[in-house]
Amino acid sequence: MNSLNRSGLKNTKARAAILKILQQSNRPLSAEEIYDGLVKCNIHVNASTVYRALTALCDKKLIGKTNVTGDKKSFFEYNAKGHRHYLICSECKKIITIERCPLRAYEKMLELETNFTISGHKLSIYGSCPECKDK
Ligand SMILES: [Zn+2]
Ligand SMILES: [Zn+2]
Repeated sequence: MNSLNRSGLKNTKARAAILKILQQSNRPLSAEEIYDGLVKCNIHVNASTVYRALTALCDKKLIGKTNVTGDKKSFFEYNAKGHRHYLICSECKKIITIERCPLRAYEKMLELETNFTISGHKLSIYGSCPECKDK
């Protein structure tokens, strides 16, 4: 019973810290990066606690999950509701969030041309980040 309580507490603390880490990040983070962030905050939990906390936060829609890099790896971000795009480094898989959308006018034009009612789009842009480019 006692250990259950303890893990419940740990879990809550981890959740609050995860939210804070994601809030302060301007890009989606992988579970590993979040785990490292927790360690830096002196919060020592095991990986499964981190995954459980991430799943719970996703279920509550407090954070969003995306897997933009094209492989199975998931990234998490705070308030993923807004429309955004991603710039992804093909080498180190770093992700930059782009809040500007260049496609609104294009959608309007397509609607006129095709008579579709367009409900949305996805766009990710790939390349080499400055660090990888210099290697
Ligand atoms: Zn890179
Ligand atoms: Zn867009």
